[in-house]
Amino acid sequence: MTDGTGNIAVDLLIVGAGPVGLFGAYYAGVRKLSTAVLDSLEEPGGQITAMYPEKAIFDVAGFPAIKGRELVAQLLAQAAPHDPQYLLGHQAVGLERVVGDGEGAQFAVTTSEGTRIECRAIVITGGIGTFSPRPLPAGEEYLGRGLFHFVPDPTAYEGQHIVVVGGGDSALDWALMLEPIGKSVTIVHRRGEFRAHPHSVELLKASSVAMLTDAQVSAVRGEPDVAEVDVDIKGEISTLPCDKLVAALGFTANLGPLMEWGIDIQKRQIVVDTQGRTTVPGIYAAGDIVDYDGKVKLIATGFGEVATAVNNAAAYLNPKVSAFPGHLSDYAPEGGSPTA
Ligand SMILES: Cc1cc2nc3c(=O)[nH]c(=O)nc-3n(C[C@H](O)[C@H](O)[C@H](O)COP(=O)(O)OP(=O)(O)OC[C@H]3O[C@@H](n4cnc5c(N)ncnc54)[C@H](O)[C@@H]3O)c2cc1C
Repeated sequence: MTDGTGNIAVDLLIVGAGPVGLFGAYYAGVRKLSTAVLDSLEEPGGQITAMYPEKAIFDVAGFPAIKGRELVAQLLAQAAPHDPQYLLGHQAVGLERVVGDGEGAQFAVTTSEGTRIECRAIVITGGIGTFSPRPLPAGEEYLGRGLFHFVPDPTAYEGQHIVVVGGGDSALDWALMLEPIGKSVTIVHRRGEFRAHPHSVELLKASSVAMLTDAQVSAVRGEPDVAEVDVDIKGEISTLPCDKLVAALGFTANLGPLMEWGIDIQKRQIVVDTQGRTTVPGIYAAGDIVDYDGKVKLIATGFGEVATAVNNAAAYLNPKVSAFPGHLSDYAPEGGSPTA
């Protein structure tokens, strides 16, 4: 798939590794399409990973309840036998039409990191657009040196002094998740009240997490990694030991470069037909980024849309095959039987 320069050539490029893009990667594999999945975030899972990894989700078919983080892990596992190539930390930026024969590349997409991906079709599952974590006003230069915007692997936090900054769902989810394993966990929020789900606020109040409200991190120190932070609480400075600083201040989302791809986008939503086709042949879209009359923005809806889009893309790439993939026992991956 790579040409030795770091550039990539695949049948299908999926833009967005949210739940919908991850399920699309599974279906692309079923259809034997070599696939790359791009996401501007460093972690897969889209809104789930960014905003509610610890929340229970009750409306995904087949799971009476599943934690966000667990659903993302299951989606990755479902796609894994087909070996999609993930490019995380890459925003899809430029789109170029490549002149090729019927079997050749139709498009070249360039990423923010300078990688060029040649592909024969594209499925855009970009959700609400590129997410950028809001930076910590003081100390953002410690990013990767003790300062993080995500907590993908809680074991790295064991026995550590942890400071979580923020007052929303992610901040509280992470503080509560880290409480049993951290040496100390402190949450710092600039307002008097938390904005998170009331149940999470109750759990926080009943926990051993130290709550500093009307407070902000005003300085971060340590060499080379974070070692302590100053917290300004209504003008009084307190210094806390801190090995891990988690800034959960929310995200800004922006459709950005996708707006320039020549696709019909109305009110920041991509227009598609019943096959998931955009107005540019060879480019499909699914999930929260797509709108039509009666659309319900849910994970379940996106799963159906991306199954339609990827299977129709497969038929577009090979007109001899049907969009209907057949019944999937024909494609069961090794060890994929529930009784295996
Ligand atoms: C707090 C909260 C709770 C929710 N609870 C539920 C629930 O209980 N049940 C439910 O069904 N739904 C729920 N939702 C909605 C659900 O999360 C979304 O419907 C779902 O995430 C949409 O998935 P998606 O893959 O289409 O988009 P997203 O999850 O938004 O993923 C899109 C991905 O595309 C990436 N991207 C965008 N543009 C680019 C680009 N140019 N280059 C590279 N990457 C790009 C983004 O970084 C992002 O990671 C909730 C949403 C929120 C905010």
